[in-house]
Amino acid sequence: MTDPLRREATEAGDHAVPPSCPACGISSKVVPIVYGYPSDAMFEAARRGEILCGGCVVDRNSPGWYCQGCRGEFRAQSADAGAAIGGSAFLRRRRV
Ligand SMILES: [Zn+2]
Repeated sequence: MTDPLRREATEAGDHAVPPSCPACGISSKVVPIVYGYPSDAMFEAARRGEILCGGCVVDRNSPGWYCQGCRGEFRAQSADAGAAIGGSAFLRRRRV
């Protein structure tokens, strides 16, 4: 039995390999979005740009990854995510 939420949480774990950004195709600028009350370590990691704090509220539509290159948030997808290049895979864009 596969639980998509559980699988996504695992993918966004500390040892997960970031997927390539669906828009710019670069994985080195992709960081996991970590949900929950941020710990000191999370604040430090966020300050270094290693993660993005997603806040305490998480639902099934919450994105798991954030691209620092184009400031897009997206969910980890299967290998055919490349077909979505162009930005349509983004759930939303973060304005900074
Ligand atoms: Zn990008």
